[in-house]
Amino acid sequence: MEIEKKKQNLSKRKKNTKRDKKSVFKIKKQSPYETIEDFPGFVKKKFPWKKFLLISGAVLGTLVLGVLLYYFCFFPTLSLNGSENIEVVYPQLYEEPGVTLTRFGKEVHYPIQTKGEVNNQKLGNYKITYSYSEWFLSKKVTRNVSIVDKEPPLLTLEGSTDLKLCPNKSYEEEGYSATDNYDGDLTDQVTVEEKDGAFVYTVKDSSGNEATSSRSVQYVDDEAPKITLKGNQTIYQTVGTTYKEPGYTVSDNCDGDLATQVKVTGSVDGKTVGTYTLTYTISDTIGNKSEVTRKVVVYKPEPNTGVIYLTFDDGPHATNTAKILDTLKKYNVKATFFVTMSGPDSMILREYQEGHTVALHTASHDYAKVYKSVDAYFSDLTKVQNRVKNITGQTSYIIRFPGGSSNTVSRHYSIGIMSTLTQEVQKRGYRYYDWNVSSGDAGETTSSQGVYNYVVGGLKRNRANIVLMHDIKSYTAAALESIIQYGLNNGYTFAAITMNTPEVHQKVNN
Ligand SMILES: [Zn+2]
Repeated sequence: MEIEKKKQNLSKRKKNTKRDKKSVFKIKKQSPYETIEDFPGFVKKKFPWKKFLLISGAVLGTLVLGVLLYYFCFFPTLSLNGSENIEVVYPQLYEEPGVTLTRFGKEVHYPIQTKGEVNNQKLGNYKITYSYSEWFLSKKVTRNVSIVDKEPPLLTLEGSTDLKLCPNKSYEEEGYSATDNYDGDLTDQVTVEEKDGAFVYTVKDSSGNEATSSRSVQYVDDEAPKITLKGNQTIYQTVGTTYKEPGYTVSDNCDGDLATQVKVTGSVDGKTVGTYTLTYTISDTIGNKSEVTRKVVVYKPEPNTGVIYLTFDDGPHATNTAKILDTLKKYNVKATFFVTMSGPDSMILREYQEGHTVALHTASHDYAKVYKSVDAYFSDLTKVQNRVKNITGQTSYIIRFPGGSSNTVSRHYSIGIMSTLTQEVQKRGYRYYDWNVSSGDAGETTSSQGVYNYVVGGLKRNRANIVLMHDIKSYTAAALESIIQYGLNNGYTFAAITMNTPEVHQKVNN
């Protein structure tokens, strides 16, 4: 193929050469001049380059000069209103300050082209270009706008910020949350680090704004275990019976149930009359120690069949109690006084000094007050217990409930309070005594004859007789002598209640 092409080209060239030879020949034949320049009078004219350049230069120069002059002197000036760099703090909105176009210092209003847009909802850097054009001339200015977030997230901790943890126990997170004004919920990006005695919570928003919060933490166990005795704090048992430990429970803030580790020291000899102390001790892991004691009173019950226990409530009373004490003294009869806060201290002192039992009936004797709650009752009882102790030096644990344990008036103030209190007083080592003979001086009668009849009518020789009377009543004081005489003449003996006196209880009705 290629060879053929070359051959063709070669033949073409030969033809051309022939033709040229022919035309030269022709000119030779027709004109004696070899070329046009050989013609006589031929003047070779040169192009006036110099002139051309000069003129076009001048024209171009004038044109450029004119444009420049226009651009710099007459073309309006474009300038930014406000700052070139504007920072907008999210969620504030960007307000476009615009540009001003002036010519010779005067504002002119021609259409300006604006390129670029600010998205207020998205953080970032934005460029806005303003331009003004005439023909091919234009001026432009640029403004940089940044939408930034400077507000750190809001970090909220739930639960305590002042932790006291048991040693060797890990903290159970009580919860936290983090929200950011721009990024929204950042809770899952919160990091928790334990350092320098605190749990430090940290969270950053997408702009790097950081929020921290912390809970201080102390690993301490300064709480001793708590031993709670089952059964009573003071147990009364008759001689000859074997002591049975009612048991106890133990709870500890860090170690939980430690009941199996309680050490009990002391013992009870059930065959021998006496007061025994049992001591229960327990230590938790860290060494906090706790100790409680129980008293066990082994006693020989008084042989009290046919005994009359005269009991006087609600006193003392300045004159009636004095009269009663005189009568008791005259017959060498011992009685029991369930006192309140009323009356003179001197009467209580006399009761004690003359061998009677000073027992407790509550301080206020106000049903609404004492039967409001267990705490209210004991707080009132403690008051009168202290009064007696201050006067006699003895702490009394012999009590009588206002209205007796069978009262129903307490229902008005607390349902079931008597059921609780009768248990609770025994738990705390008190012994409570109701009565089985009433003197009627609480309302049934107001005469000494009436009181006498009630008492005498209620006595029974085959039991212990606990007689309810009130030493604040004059007719009771007046009836006392004949009652004592009746008792002595009919084979009764008189005694004061002691901690060894078997309790007489009525049926609890609330
Ligand atoms: Zn009373």
